[in-house]
Amino acid sequence: MSAAIAVRQSALRSGRSCSITLLERNSSPGSKIRISGGGKCNVTHRGTPAELLEKGFLRSNERRFLRHALYGFSNTHLLALLGSRGVECAERPDGKIFPASGDALSVVTAFDGLLREASVRQHFSGRVRSVERKGAGFFVATEEASFTGDAVILATGGLSYSRTGTTGDGLTIARSFGHTINRSSPALAPLYTINSPPSSLSGLSLRSVVFIATGGGSPLERRGDLLFTHRGLSGPAALSLSRDIAELSRQFRRVALFADLFPEQRVEELEAQLLQQGRKNGSQMVRKFLQSCPIAPHGGSFALTDHGTIPTALVPLIMQQSALENDLIWSTLAREKRRSLLAVLKAFSLGMVREVPLEQGEVSAGGVALKEVNPKTMESRKVPNLFLCGELLDYAGEIGGFNLQAAFSTGWMAGSNALYPAQE
Ligand SMILES: Cc1cc2nc3c(=O)[nH]c(=O)nc-3n(C[C@H](O)[C@H](O)[C@H](O)COP(=O)(O)OP(=O)(O)OC[C@H]3O[C@@H](n4cnc5c(N)ncnc54)[C@H](O)[C@@H]3O)c2cc1C
Repeated sequence: MSAAIAVRQSALRSGRSCSITLLERNSSPGSKIRISGGGKCNVTHRGTPAELLEKGFLRSNERRFLRHALYGFSNTHLLALLGSRGVECAERPDGKIFPASGDALSVVTAFDGLLREASVRQHFSGRVRSVERKGAGFFVATEEASFTGDAVILATGGLSYSRTGTTGDGLTIARSFGHTINRSSPALAPLYTINSPPSSLSGLSLRSVVFIATGGGSPLERRGDLLFTHRGLSGPAALSLSRDIAELSRQFRRVALFADLFPEQRVEELEAQLLQQGRKNGSQMVRKFLQSCPIAPHGGSFALTDHGTIPTALVPLIMQQSALENDLIWSTLAREKRRSLLAVLKAFSLGMVREVPLEQGEVSAGGVALKEVNPKTMESRKVPNLFLCGELLDYAGEIGGFNLQAAFSTGWMAGSNALYPAQE
């Protein structure tokens, strides 16, 4: 949608006439926008393009690739475009930006209005089956009709949530033009563990812990909140690390997951605090203390923080993993037992990875190899006048509005250059 609107704007600027056709297999466009952000649509993120790149895209090659697009069509441009159709947006304290109405549909409606203003012909309920070269242009066949054009922009999305229409058709088309398709892989996906967490934990979150995955080589880590589900784990830290974990699982069959409940303290510091607690309150049951113990305390103190306390349901599991008796009190906590408790507090076992489901990911990584696409124009380096944009490309952003922004930005770049494909 952003690509089609950008084509018209570029045509108007240059005084050229052109006809623009948007082909969508669903009965209306923007199916993923509708379900994004839990129906509220986290449309972008606060900050300069440099800040968005830094925070939203953790792999340097992807950051490099997206740089031109995010500067060319930034969050400011996007918010102005939405504002021009009456969609005001509001920023949350964590930097995420949503339509103030809290309704994702308002974003789709705004784009629909912009497409109409731009006189874009829209064909719905027609799945594109093939795109072929025809002279200097293209021949595009859907299930029921065919089209010709001087330029084609592929914007068919990734591979997850296939019921929204994203079944990888664009990847097949790109491959037919000789593009390299890097293996699709889950990202921002929940994790399923071999043994599901006990039902007592389902729905519980651990705030601001360090989530750790080990399989071979250096452990992978991500700081953030974790959520226990009935099949495994979700929440920002698990979603963010899921892409790396999926890759690790392909390399090493056994990937173990842990949570460091006290990431701001080194083992020795935590041990000193436990010893102090024992001296202060020798007759207190260790389990009672853990129940009121703030999780991930700042500044090495057990004073209450906004991270909350260790969930009560987790305490029996901490005791079990540390092999401590339920009624153990501080004054009888021998050195080995203290060490064992420390080890569990610093690496609470969350189980082994069974699956990182591609279909359940908010995005999919993998796709058309970035090196085969000109980052300044989104034009294929293999096929002149063929443009590629959005999640179809081999990048994946973090949670926070970065993926929609990247899709709008790369789409805009493609559309802005489709009338005048730039020569490198
Ligand atoms: C549950 C969920 C929540 C999300 N929440 C957020 C969020 O809050 N913020 C955020 O930034 N990102 C979010 N995302 C990710 C974001 O929605 C996507 O990264 C983004 O929509 C990708 O844009 P795109 O244009 O590349 O592809 P898509 O939005 O997937 O659009 C591709 C379109 O191409 C159509 N299509 C595919 N094949 C064909 C064909 N053969 N013929 C015709 N049409 C075809 C599809 O029907 C689809 O409409 C979320 C994703 C999911 C699944």
